[in-house]
Amino acid sequence: VPEKRSIFHQNLMQWYGTHGRRDLPWRNTRDAYAIYLSEVMLQQTQVATVLARFYQPFLARFPTLKALANANEREVLEAWQGLGYYSRARNLHKAAKACAGKLPSTVDELVALPGIGRNTAHAVASFAFGLPVPVMEANVKRVLCRIFALEQPTDNQLWEGAHALLDSDHVFDYNQAMMDIGAMVCRKRAPLCAECPASGICKGKANPEAYPQKKAKKAPPVRRKDIVVVQHPSGSFYATPRASRFLGGLYHFCELEPGENGFALGAQRLERADAVLLGGVTQQYSHFTLDAQIWLLRLKKTPKTAQKDSWHSWDMLVQLPMSMAEKKILALIEVSNPSKYRQNVA
Ligand code: SF4
Repeated sequence: VPEKRSIFHQNLMQWYGTHGRRDLPWRNTRDAYAIYLSEVMLQQTQVATVLARFYQPFLARFPTLKALANANEREVLEAWQGLGYYSRARNLHKAAKACAGKLPSTVDELVALPGIGRNTAHAVASFAFGLPVPVMEANVKRVLCRIFALEQPTDNQLWEGAHALLDSDHVFDYNQAMMDIGAMVCRKRAPLCAECPASGICKGKANPEAYPQKKAKKAPPVRRKDIVVVQHPSGSFYATPRASRFLGGLYHFCELEPGENGFALGAQRLERADAVLLGGVTQQYSHFTLDAQIWLLRLKKTPKTAQKDSWHSWDMLVQLPMSMAEKKILALIEVSNPSKYRQNVA
């Protein structure tokens, strides 16, 4: 109903003026790259974490999309360390290269870039270029489900609802305000309907937590591995960048499936080779849980086959871009016996 919608827009703008998080740095710029970067970081990371540790340092290191396009992947991954979901960093880098340092301004062109889905394209298009398109990140989805009382909506239903509600005259503030009521008012648990600017149009407010309905989730599988930290007789450590898509470009140690034939045959062979069991590391990923035993193998002779640039002194090793699991392994090496394992480094 147009009148109700217009009252909702007024209430929303009023609420945003008083309660909105308008001081966030990406809300005070029209620099398309800075906005795009914030959207990518916020895809899987909380605002507080992005703000406290990652956004400004990344921008300081790569102040423009051109600077990012000119960097190499290792530098980009280094700057992304700790944020996780590294495909975001690789796609950001690929996109910077693909558009030669200048972001396009239409939704169709943005969606064609690596790692940019419809929501990110709409966010960049509306925040940087003022295009009248709605955003729909996880919090906004929940708000829409409740406003329209949708239990298990399809993406099309949600986008249709998002377009129907949009305030095209104030697209920047409208989209930001929708994200804010999702984060601050229409919370997953115990939403604050009495304070909500959408309560006048909300069909789900009588029982908000019924929308959307949860889908039953399967527990992710556990993958068990032996991981071997190989140390050269000179004291340096063997680590190479992953060639796989998952965590690609990040450095890792030698990984063995338990019982696999190859470098060693599980625990018994490792023990016979004088490898020392340092302990265990677990790491939760979105699609599996890693449960690894970590071994340290100090070689007595210089190996003939391993490439020279795969060996790193301890000081170099700790600077390499690595995922959280490898960082935990480094901590394990240090805790185990730093004076023994870090001595004589090349
Ligand atoms: S009225 Fe309640 S359920 Fe509806 S959008 Fe607002 S907080 Fe969410």
